[in-house]
Amino acid sequence: MIKTRFAPSPTGFLHIGGVRTALFSWAYARKNKGQFVLRIEDTDLERSTPESVQAILDGMHWVGLDYDEGPFYQTQRFDRYAAVVQQLLDAGHAYYCYCSKEELEELRQEQEARGEHTHYDRRWRPEAGKTLPQIPEDVQPVVRFKNPLDGSVKWHDLVKGDIEFANTELDDIIIARADGSPTYNFCVVVDDWDMGITQVIRGDDHVNNTPKQINILKALGAPLPEYAHLPMILNENGQKMSKRRDAVSVVDYETQGILPEALLNYLARLGWGHGDDEFFSIEQFIQWFDLKDVSPSASRFNHEKFLWLNAQHIKAADNKRLASLVAPKLQAKGIEHIDQPVLEEVIALVKERVQDLNQLALECDYFYQKRVPLEADVQKHIQEGTKERMQRFAQELLQISDWQTEHIHALFKPFCEKEGIKMGQLGMPLRVLVCGTTQTPSVDAVLALLGKDEVLKRLNEATI
Ligand code: GLU
Repeated sequence: MIKTRFAPSPTGFLHIGGVRTALFSWAYARKNKGQFVLRIEDTDLERSTPESVQAILDGMHWVGLDYDEGPFYQTQRFDRYAAVVQQLLDAGHAYYCYCSKEELEELRQEQEARGEHTHYDRRWRPEAGKTLPQIPEDVQPVVRFKNPLDGSVKWHDLVKGDIEFANTELDDIIIARADGSPTYNFCVVVDDWDMGITQVIRGDDHVNNTPKQINILKALGAPLPEYAHLPMILNENGQKMSKRRDAVSVVDYETQGILPEALLNYLARLGWGHGDDEFFSIEQFIQWFDLKDVSPSASRFNHEKFLWLNAQHIKAADNKRLASLVAPKLQAKGIEHIDQPVLEEVIALVKERVQDLNQLALECDYFYQKRVPLEADVQKHIQEGTKERMQRFAQELLQISDWQTEHIHALFKPFCEKEGIKMGQLGMPLRVLVCGTTQTPSVDAVLALLGKDEVLKRLNEATI
């Protein structure tokens, strides 16, 4: 069975690059009726925090990437790592190294002085006919993996194609530190093996770790997973996305009023495509997704396109759901009563006009609380006689017994003719006086939704 995983390190917020990795791993599992695992790689005790773990869990929940197993925490698996270290030692695939920090530093400096690529010189590696140094007292050894000395490590990367590293380029890496704690590459190997991961889908910053991991898996006699390394996401200037310059945390997108399905849709399109399709649902993505269609080169984040997609998803979203997302935003603006008119109906009327949920809340607010109009709008649209004219219009509105858009609309033309004005000279002042803004959808529909009593009340208050 296909089994993929997302294995973030909880050392900050959940980055959108991470979400894209999670999305592709998840979609691959879903598409192939496999399983998806969440694993928290928290062995770096200094940099991992419970807040970051929570941010990952919350972020995954918000975007709706569900997992079948986990979250597993590496810090809860230390006994298992220690057992596998012992297994490698027993089988002669690993050895103790008693080099002190000073010795290693000296070695590094010598190699640098000779202009060599710095590497561990394998002085503690047991080899036929070799006498190992005297074991020093009071030095706790590290455990190093016996990397093969010749040949190469090759794999067919499902995104990048054939990749090969010569073993001479690889060190005998430390797998357990002097205090016994396991190192990063080693934990990944043991986990991918124990968890039965069949495809390791991750960022291409891990390409260099892969040959080390493959060698350890081979030494353990473990089956090799396939690997797929995803290219980076760059910002619009072609730079690596950074916290300082760009919105990169999932939480930032939520506060910017982005719908999770829009973020996933956009991230899916970054580095993957299905013909010319831009707007699609997560179900379609699962159906279409294949790693062979992922581009091996980096892609750029285009904010304008992203917002356009968000707008498309807002249009497509269920109004009841949008109402539940917008209601807290209105409440945060101090608008308490959002039952009259029904928020869903307001949303249905205004949602075509917005690109994010914050704008959507803004487009809804004057239905519940008239805005204080901008001075410039008042100057432009409320001239001498306007208020009196609007009082006359209010009288006509008062006569409507069936308060519907079309009946309100039917008053406009004859009223303008009678008053000798253009439609704009009625519509704009009406908007300013009733809503407090000129930026509204068709005014007859707005008045219809607001309700007769509210419209007349607002008009009266504004024209006395
Ligand atoms: N923990 C690593 C990271 O956050 C991912 C390791 C992996 O996927 O193998 O970059």
